[in-house]
Amino acid sequence: MSNVFNFSAGPAMLPAEVMQQAQAEFLNWRDSGCSVMEVSHRGKDFIEVAATAEQDLRDLLNVPENYKVLFAHGGGRGQFASVPLNISTSSDTSLHMVTGSWSKGAVAEAAKYNNAKVIGETIEVDGLQAVAKVTEADVDQSAAYLHFCPNETVDGVAFDWLPESGNVPLVSDMSSCILSKPLDVSAHGIIYAGAQKNIGPSGLSVLIVRDDLIGKARKETPSIFDYELMAKHDSMYNTPPTFSWYLAGLVFKWLKSNGGLTAMQQRNEAKAALLYGAIDGSDFYSNPVHPDNRSIMNVPFHLADDSLNQKFLEQSDAAGLKALKGHRSVGGMRASIYNAMSVEGVAALVEFMKQFEKENG
Ligand code: PMP
Repeated sequence: MSNVFNFSAGPAMLPAEVMQQAQAEFLNWRDSGCSVMEVSHRGKDFIEVAATAEQDLRDLLNVPENYKVLFAHGGGRGQFASVPLNISTSSDTSLHMVTGSWSKGAVAEAAKYNNAKVIGETIEVDGLQAVAKVTEADVDQSAAYLHFCPNETVDGVAFDWLPESGNVPLVSDMSSCILSKPLDVSAHGIIYAGAQKNIGPSGLSVLIVRDDLIGKARKETPSIFDYELMAKHDSMYNTPPTFSWYLAGLVFKWLKSNGGLTAMQQRNEAKAALLYGAIDGSDFYSNPVHPDNRSIMNVPFHLADDSLNQKFLEQSDAAGLKALKGHRSVGGMRASIYNAMSVEGVAALVEFMKQFEKENG
């Protein structure tokens, strides 16, 4: 294992044990003489991999019987478009909480297909970004769905409560927080996530869809995005991203053998507390998000003097702390500390930050 700690927002680091297993069986998978990426998705062995991955994900998230788990193409953005096509007509209203750049992207895409309305935006509390609660009074009960993103990858804004939507189905973009802690699937209509943070390599997205929201797709919906067809064909209506699906399966096994989502939550909260503690304990670093809405997955921070950004990035990279540059739309730094990031990795970053402050503060 190397001494590099990779803080990339996605594609992001994966557990070393998973990568080692994939490497060990890369050329000769299950004594077949082939790689898993070279075999048919319709073969018995791959179907077994696919079914096991689904069952392990169901176990981890406690997915109720009346939900389908789908493995899809299209990433997060693909799902931005698939949701309105599957569960709204062009004259329906969809409601959107906009708490950062990804939920903003989702509403822009939905607006192509239905009457998309923003019902809650990030607010400022004590000069910091915060999220106001959404209650039933804010929710038009005739809307087709309410979309939100509980963890904004770019902005580091998160909230751990659910919008109170009455009978309007909740649709949640969990691309950057799924599997980081236990989750009440039954409170949602649809959960979706691009794989490339906590699930596996890019090219795959995972959907969890309540049965009553399946079978309502518009007739012009591309077949490969139609939930009903996807479900009917066990997510193999067309050729799925087999290698990503296989690797996701290894990640699910890794999660199970490392204490499941309760253990992940404890570890993720400890990592986040360490990093936010270092930021809050210094005048040199700052985080723009209200303490109630700080992400435990993506931690943006700024240096007091922006002209030091380049130096910080060069020196941190040389110290083996990779990919700390903040998203171009917000600048500064961002440390993504998904499930695969160790406490040691965050401790190494905190040490580096203290040393950098000492030398440049
Ligand atoms: N939603 C969220 C919360 C994301 O973080 C991302 C990607 N970083 C997306 C959607 C878009 O995902 P993709 O690039 O897979 O389309």
